[in-house]
Amino acid sequence: MEPIAYVNGAFVPLSEAKVSILDRGFLFADGIYEVAAVLDGKLIDNASHLARLQRSVGEITLALPESLERIQEIQKELVKRNSVANGLVYLEVTRGADSGRDFVFPKNDVKPTLVMFTSEKDIVNAPSARTGISVITVPDIRWARRDIKSVALLAQVLAKQAAAEAKAGEAWMIEDGKVTEGGSSSCFILTQDDVIVTRQNGNEILPGCTRKAVVKLAEERQLRIEERAFSVEEALAAKEAFITSASLFVQAVVSIDGKKVGDGKPGLMTNRLREIYVDFARATAV
Ligand code: PLP
Repeated sequence: MEPIAYVNGAFVPLSEAKVSILDRGFLFADGIYEVAAVLDGKLIDNASHLARLQRSVGEITLALPESLERIQEIQKELVKRNSVANGLVYLEVTRGADSGRDFVFPKNDVKPTLVMFTSEKDIVNAPSARTGISVITVPDIRWARRDIKSVALLAQVLAKQAAAEAKAGEAWMIEDGKVTEGGSSSCFILTQDDVIVTRQNGNEILPGCTRKAVVKLAEERQLRIEERAFSVEEALAAKEAFITSASLFVQAVVSIDGKKVGDGKPGLMTNRLREIYVDFARATAV
């Protein structure tokens, strides 16, 4: 059966889900997105994703066309209609389609565009959860407001394409000698003296929802955490490295630019945090 998508108030077959070529998301990347995981038919950490959505749209002065409560209802309805057991719900809101291509915000009568679709993905049993992934490094060429989850993702498209061509699973972006974040993930290392290090939030990175949950879960277990920038050299000298994201949860990084991290296998702390996160995800799913 054809998957169902949501477009501006209607549930329609994916092949009929369309927006205007004048949509500002298409013309200017004038829009915000969110991706939440689905486990056993339920949304994972969705309150955190909706809070970030609200913050992102606020930062670009875009009013959501529906309340957060209604948005969650639509997400759930879509998961149900598509019988998604394990996967993702993608959501995008743009500043809508005006009568032409004007950089200036449209008048008040232009309604924002809201679309959603789902995809299937077995995050918990993904083979890379067992093997870990390799990453390459690329210069971070993005704009200065990476804390906004904007649909302007060309830098990440190029970074992740370079990673794919190098047969790596992710690209780590580097600025001023330090790792900012992955193309679509937050980066962590475990130092030789067992400190979990991840870059502090700020305009330079997206405040990852999975990052936030993992930091909290680690703190609750009295694990040592430092939120600060780290270099690739430090990551290569570390015991372990890993990334987090809604679509991967916690995933080991076993090599960087072809050089092994630790013994080149997923580490104990990474595996432990992954288990802790999966338990948290199941326990708090809605
Ligand atoms: N950083 C970037 C640039 C991302 O695109 C993403 C997710 O897509 C993340 C970090 C991880 O964020 P989350 O854990 O909320 O998925």
